[in-house]
Amino acid sequence: MIEIRNYINGELVAPAKGGYIDNYEPAKGKVYSLIPDSGEEDVKRAVEAAKEAFPSWSETSLDERSAILLRLSELIDQNLERLAEAESRDNGKPLKLARTVDIPRARDNFSFFATGLRHFASESHRTSDHVINYTTRKAIGVAGCISPWNLPLYLFSWKIAPALAAGNTVVAKPSEVTPMTAYLLSELCIEAGLPAGVLNIVHGLGGSAGNAIVEHPDVKMISFTGGTTTGEHIARTAAPKFKKLSLELGGKNPNIIFDDCNFEEALKTSLRSSFANQGQICLCGSRIYIQRGIYEKFRDTFVEKVAAMKVGDPLAEGTKMGAVVSKPHFEKILGYVKLAQEEGGTVLTGGHAEQMEGDLSEGYFIRPTVIEGLDEKCRTNQEEIFGPVVTLQPFDTEEEALAYANGTEYGLAATVWTQDVSRAHRVADKLKSGIVWINCWLVRDLRTPFGGVKNSGVGREGGWEAMRFFTEPKNVCIKY
Ligand code: NAD
Repeated sequence: MIEIRNYINGELVAPAKGGYIDNYEPAKGKVYSLIPDSGEEDVKRAVEAAKEAFPSWSETSLDERSAILLRLSELIDQNLERLAEAESRDNGKPLKLARTVDIPRARDNFSFFATGLRHFASESHRTSDHVINYTTRKAIGVAGCISPWNLPLYLFSWKIAPALAAGNTVVAKPSEVTPMTAYLLSELCIEAGLPAGVLNIVHGLGGSAGNAIVEHPDVKMISFTGGTTTGEHIARTAAPKFKKLSLELGGKNPNIIFDDCNFEEALKTSLRSSFANQGQICLCGSRIYIQRGIYEKFRDTFVEKVAAMKVGDPLAEGTKMGAVVSKPHFEKILGYVKLAQEEGGTVLTGGHAEQMEGDLSEGYFIRPTVIEGLDEKCRTNQEEIFGPVVTLQPFDTEEEALAYANGTEYGLAATVWTQDVSRAHRVADKLKSGIVWINCWLVRDLRTPFGGVKNSGVGREGGWEAMRFFTEPKNVCIKY
């Protein structure tokens, strides 16, 4: 049984009160490691270490800071297979996905910001013949970074890398549902020579360890990715303390397919955008709107392909659909399938657990599920399910598609399939979401602003947006 440790002040340590939480392997439904049940005392120690490390880290030369973060990126690359296996085992995601997406992206997050920090610049404005304004951007202090379970190391490092690159020190908490790769990262930080206290990783529950980070008066900014309800709670705690806040929250993303689309591309990519990572990517399109002219053809082909999808052992080569992350989440997803039927929906394929054999018989496997016949206002089409469940609905006009797409309280991402370039721009402009993909999905460029509108969040991550979030601008005006 692996006993995970906190990483505080450069050392791997047990939680102050000695308590541990069970960590389950979703494919087997069994406990396989123990997570520190950290609390206020552990967070206090971590913040003290981060505060102490801040003056020297923020003054470290850009070259040196960049070199250390690049070393960390290289170590992730050298340990790619080990990290991918750990991620797959901890989360239930297919090993191939962890190997080709999650871990390479964690590596790239560090190398991207390690090199980015050397190019980050601030503005100056010549106001008149005798006046110039210039802006400096300095690191702020201790950043709190809190991340979810769906893309564990990928999203954890997406926050930590820019925070460190900008010269801040960090107290971070990965999800208690998937803590393993954050623990392995702390070992790599020691190997990379990251100075003590620059990054501190405290494991534990959201209500205790997470809340203690948000409440701590010396944590000056919070970067959070997770559910909208948690985000609301964090905002309520942090706002009166005037902390900087970046909130990346839930989604209920539309996938709009016009009848002039490239049918094969739309079909192939929609299978991925619906079910990649068992539908547990905040960017997955869970509401598929199809124009009437191709509705039946698309539905029938889509359902046939989904029914043929194999759900399998996440660690086996070739598996494309693994287990969902936990028992409560498994039950939540199946609860939504039941709700969809009560709301008048018809399950076209899936809709139930997949019973596996041998040591996977207790695992949390769900057949990919397609539902039609629901009203766009029903709970199934309004609330985030975050699993392998999509709904199909026909539409006639562009206006109708936009009304459906924009008709939820969320606004993270949207996908549009059309070959009409004018329509593509028109629809992209009218979609109320932070990210729009036209004729593609999940094509990422780390320089672009990442985040949502409405209840999907506040602020943007990525590129200079992240570097700006993690620095404080000061404007100096000189008359000469
Ligand atoms: P969650 O909100 O339950 O937990 C996220 C993190 O917050 C965890 O580390 C948790 O321990 C911590 N936390 C919980 N309560 C806290 C509190 N009171 N104070 C401080 N920290 C607390 O979310 P989850 O179930 O882990 O993740 C799934 C959600 O994340 C989905 O809603 C999904 O859409 C969202 N998500 C959003 C994005 C995005 O970029 N917008 C990306 C991935 C996931």
